[in-house]
Amino acid sequence: MATLANKTAIVTGASSGIGYEAAKLFASEGANVVVVARREAKLYALVDEILSAGGKAVALVGDVKNEAVAEKGVELAIEHFGGLDIAFNNAGTLGAMGDVAELTAEGWHDTIDTNLTSAFYCAKYQIPALLKRGNASLIFTSSFVGYSIGLPGMAAYAASKAGLVGLARTLAAEYGARGVRVNVLMPGGTDTEMGGAATPTVEARAFVEGIHAMKRLALPVEIAKSALFLASDASSFVTGTTFFVDGGV
Ligand code: NDP
Repeated sequence: MATLANKTAIVTGASSGIGYEAAKLFASEGANVVVVARREAKLYALVDEILSAGGKAVALVGDVKNEAVAEKGVELAIEHFGGLDIAFNNAGTLGAMGDVAELTAEGWHDTIDTNLTSAFYCAKYQIPALLKRGNASLIFTSSFVGYSIGLPGMAAYAASKAGLVGLARTLAAEYGARGVRVNVLMPGGTDTEMGGAATPTVEARAFVEGIHAMKRLALPVEIAKSALFLASDASSFVTGTTFFVDGGV
């Protein structure tokens, strides 16, 4: 039987990169998926791809900074598929870049809202639906930047991503005995649109690759496979953990 047969998942940040690969992988393993992002054309192309491969998917075009989008994602999962078993809250942005003395309050808040407050909104609406299933998995995508290493110019991103670890550990303690596992996926540098923005030159890419013991960036599907592990019953006794998929940072 497929790993996620009879399960329903929400994947945020599904229009590209890690989320795109995870949505396809979850669907290929039998999950119904609600995919969330702002870029409508990319999201509908993904839904078409999943449907063409025999899977089931519904798109939700929206900004995760908006609390109503978190609520709508759960509503769609219930309306189309009867409930929610897995939430991969993965959407994120590099956001405001620059040394702290140069950052604006607006840039700071926007980055925290996109990467961290969105995760709170998602969890707030997803938890009641996940509790109804009794065997559910909630996953956030953090980053090696902020947790394993500090990099100049990335304070807002780093703080937002480290904050996810505290949120996940708390949720794991609150709901572990009631059948909801909560974990943080901790990717290293990954070859996605965001990875490209962070490594715009040959020198920048070589620097980031050099941080990793494996001296390369991850493919997005390598991160998605670990999301599948955390989503599936293969990780049935894993909760409150930071799951490193970072090529040895
Ligand atoms: P991508 O840029 O390819 O994907 C980012 C995704 O997040 C897109 O689908 C984007 O969709 C979505 N997104 C961004 N902002 C919003 C928003 N306000 N509302 C809704 N969706 C949003 O990069 P990755 O796949 O690499 O990023 C996925 C996650 O992995 C992020 O959380 C990132 O921080 C994390 N990560 C990435 C690393 C890397 O090196 N690439 C390393 C460690 C962690 P859209 O623009 O259509 O809204």
